Amino acid sequence: MKLYELSLMQLINLLNKKEVKAEEVIRSFAERIERIEKKINAFITLNLENAINSAKLIDQKKQKGKLAGIPFAIKDNILTKGIRTTCASRILENFVPPYNATVIEKIISEDGIIIGKTNMDEFAMGSSTENSGFFQTKNPWDLGRVPGGSSGGSAAAVASMEVPIALGSDTGGSIRQPAAFCGLVGLKPTYGRVSRYGLVAFASSLDQIGPLTRTVEDCAYIMNLISGFDPKDSTSSNQPVPDYLSEIKKEIKGLRIGFVGGNLIENVDSRIRELYNEILHKLEKNGIGLEEVNFTYWEYALASYYIIAPSEASSNLARYDGIKYGYRVSSYSNLKDLYSKTRTSGFGEEVKRRIILGTFALSSGYYEDYYLKAIKTRALIAKEFKEAFNRVDLIVSPTTPEPAFKFGEKLDPISMYLSDIFTITANLAGIPALSVPIGLTEENLPVGLQIMGNYFEESKILNFAYLLEKDLKFYQYKPNLT
Ligand code: GLN
Repeated sequence: MKLYELSLMQLINLLNKKEVKAEEVIRSFAERIERIEKKINAFITLNLENAINSAKLIDQKKQKGKLAGIPFAIKDNILTKGIRTTCASRILENFVPPYNATVIEKIISEDGIIIGKTNMDEFAMGSSTENSGFFQTKNPWDLGRVPGGSSGGSAAAVASMEVPIALGSDTGGSIRQPAAFCGLVGLKPTYGRVSRYGLVAFASSLDQIGPLTRTVEDCAYIMNLISGFDPKDSTSSNQPVPDYLSEIKKEIKGLRIGFVGGNLIENVDSRIRELYNEILHKLEKNGIGLEEVNFTYWEYALASYYIIAPSEASSNLARYDGIKYGYRVSSYSNLKDLYSKTRTSGFGEEVKRRIILGTFALSSGYYEDYYLKAIKTRALIAKEFKEAFNRVDLIVSPTTPEPAFKFGEKLDPISMYLSDIFTITANLAGIPALSVPIGLTEENLPVGLQIMGNYFEESKILNFAYLLEKDLKFYQYKPNLT
């Protein structure tokens, strides 16, 4: 087996036993990237030379960190000091951050190595990475299909074994949906579990950073290192961080699983429904307590998300005015003209659509009809989850209503928005949720199961996901890329 084919934990074991050097690991991935990146287009910016130099320095260190020699791909909306961070937007095309996001500081302090910045939907708005201001990223399982989004570059990089691990961000499903499309484990942590300091804000009350990996163990390992309170993020939580890695191996007894059923499932693509039902039957056969959970307000989740997220975005994106950051048009007649021309040509269609939508929803006269109603619905959704978690430990659903779709298949924004029907509620409620692969369709497309848990119960989610993974062993399937 080649080094690039190994999981994060397998690499860490080899590195710890000194059977390989950091430099060998990084070179193996760098060669893989050089060979297949042309087909995948996962990266906006590569940092290969610096990565190899960092590996050499790490090899000389006596005391090595817990990620020594591990290459990371980072979504291009997470700030990396000295490495261009574009959010896949023309407006930030040449922006080089002067500081690191907290998660990057944490990775670097453990000797992790940033190998590149990944493609995404512009400002994380989208579900296919087709909204990138630069280019499309291909799904490694089928190059004619999207990798999902908005963290599509991160997912494609891990699935194609260009890196063992990547970070993404999830505002309405952007880690879990691409994880499902690319056959990976993707976790959106509880709101506040992982610092958002240095994550370029899209919708601040919904955004969370999280990992994309090939195994549940890898996910648990990195969560140990990136979670926790950060004085630089006022919404980060000071709840103690458990040792996720040892938690996932504990035996679980008397688990009660709620499952999403009814209309929501009837409308799902039959290829997904079959695998979902198979899993539920399997759980039942293994004596796990199952209960259908019904949500009255789930059907309003999409509508309230598409008021709340654009409203927050319209405010967050006001800072890109051609003065403070990035791109500015070269000819303009006055200040207002400068703002208007810069924003008109710097932002893509979807970003402008969201800014207009959000500005409208927040404007006086419409605020009560739209924004206020949306946040009331959000509170009701959170309440329903709370009540459900009094009866069950975890709630499962499909991660997506269909497997990876073809490029250009969802040009109408509403059909694209519907991709998030299962993932958005977790962001509205602030609860943790993970996607774990449960199989392949006949066309060899991965399918994901979403596992949602109560606040700060990532351990329970990971524990259950680990159980499924041990049984299904999905990680042995790899996309056919040569
Ligand atoms: N697809 C959703 C949107 O377009 C979610 C994006 C995300 O989670 N960043 O808003």
